[in-house]
Amino acid sequence: MTIHGFRSAHSAGLAARCLEKLKRRDFVEGAALIDGCWIAGQQRDMVIDPASGEEIADVARCNAADMGLAIAAAEQSFSAWRGLLPARRGAILKSWASLMLHHSEELAMLVTCEQGKPITEARHEIAYGAGFLEWFAAEGERAYGETIPSHKSGSLLHVRMQPIGVTAAITPWNFPVAMITRKAAAALAAGCPMIVKPAPETPLSALAIARLAEQAGVPRGVFQVVVGDPIELSVPLLSDPRTRALSFTGSTEVGRLLLGESAKSVKKVSLELGGHAPFVVFDDVNIEKAVSGAMAAKFATSGQDCLAANRIYVQRGLYNAFVEAFAGAVRRLKVGHGLDPAIDIGPMTKASVAKKCRLQIDDAVAKGAQAVSAKQDESLGPNFVLPTLLSDVTEGMLIAQEETFGPVAAVLPFDTEEEVVARANASEMGLAGYIYTDSLRRALRLSEQLEYGMLGVNTASFTGPPIPFGGWKQSGLGREGSRHGLAEYMELKYVCFGDLAARER
Ligand code: NAD
Repeated sequence: MTIHGFRSAHSAGLAARCLEKLKRRDFVEGAALIDGCWIAGQQRDMVIDPASGEEIADVARCNAADMGLAIAAAEQSFSAWRGLLPARRGAILKSWASLMLHHSEELAMLVTCEQGKPITEARHEIAYGAGFLEWFAAEGERAYGETIPSHKSGSLLHVRMQPIGVTAAITPWNFPVAMITRKAAAALAAGCPMIVKPAPETPLSALAIARLAEQAGVPRGVFQVVVGDPIELSVPLLSDPRTRALSFTGSTEVGRLLLGESAKSVKKVSLELGGHAPFVVFDDVNIEKAVSGAMAAKFATSGQDCLAANRIYVQRGLYNAFVEAFAGAVRRLKVGHGLDPAIDIGPMTKASVAKKCRLQIDDAVAKGAQAVSAKQDESLGPNFVLPTLLSDVTEGMLIAQEETFGPVAAVLPFDTEEEVVARANASEMGLAGYIYTDSLRRALRLSEQLEYGMLGVNTASFTGPPIPFGGWKQSGLGREGSRHGLAEYMELKYVCFGDLAARER
């Protein structure tokens, strides 16, 4: 068995043995779904377990010509799919969600084996991902238009919402199931076909949900998954004028690039990009509540989460006690292979993420931060980063300036409300923020002043199908989930019926 770049005695062979036991052998065939056919591809790419570095499966490497076939098939399928009653489309989406829940355990294993997250979080992701299919199954029936009081005598003004056409999704590896269903549920409910280009690190999860889409009765060409090299596949997808909308989740850097490419054929673009969330704790708050919120907001998905608290600002009066309690909780985190049900933190999915975490820790410590890490007896592979708390962080440190995307928590003291609002807003990013306070007035003031698309007040848990997920500034464009998410895949059509007073001859 080839080991990629490193050898870890810890958990050797664990993921491969787990995948061998899957009853749904088609989940690990690694075939792409194009125009209703399962394509094995002439060339194959390997899928790696990020915990052990071992190859665990191989998948088709599709090329630009395959993407061309997918676009043609999607266009071909559009008219029949948009012509179905929304309730009929909804029934198919519901059946897809039920199949996901039925196969939840196997899907969760795939996610953990290729992405690395703890199995309990993977199970939660499957339920969360299926939730978008269920929610949009119903929301598709509510794509109401408008009737506008007329400004012209004898005329009637209508606004209709109609599906935009062929849509594309380019998705990341941190939520390899939910980032696909959050897009596809809305697109398909709106009446649009969707072509998904998943992250090359996590193709198995995407291909498995495509199997279930087919089984649920999603017609040929309406939901396709094309796997392979991101640049080779995205060039035809974005340059083709038949692709009318793009939904992308990933880094701000790649998002900017794809927005530029999409501009050439003026596509409708929604982008869910990076975060750099402030987590603001005032000294009127219960310390246990604040620490447990910070733990959840920082360490979910092993820190590889765009909602992750990246700058934890704690008011001076509570600062020392907060750091002590937070350090105790960080020390207790268990690190290991995601298939071990006792662990809290898995490996980083990409070596580059682990490298960035180490760089930020070294930079902060060199500039005067104090570091406390979780204890770990076993030696783990290089993709693992021990959960670390950095206190006395200052704005000059890298971790205060850029997203971490790993299990490293930065705590910074502050004195006044005005000061912390200014520091929290001093970022190019504007995805999510958190406010912990017992003062309703203060919570209302901050919810007005913080320049973020989503805010949690005294909670670290706020995402789900009914909410408009998305960011301000360079964290993105558009929204996913909620009725606003459906609108990303629809065009408005204004129709003026004139001359209504005239009688038919
Ligand atoms: P990434 O931007 O490198 O990759 C995302 C997707 O884009 C993948 O499918 C990848 O294959 C593809 N891609 C990469 N380069 C490309 C190119 N040149 N042309 C076409 N496609 C390309 O990001 P990542 O490393 O996979 O994910 C980490 C980043 O994503 C973080 O910054 C994080 O904040 C962000 N993210 C945001 C959200 C959100 O909802 N806002 C969710 C998850 C991740």
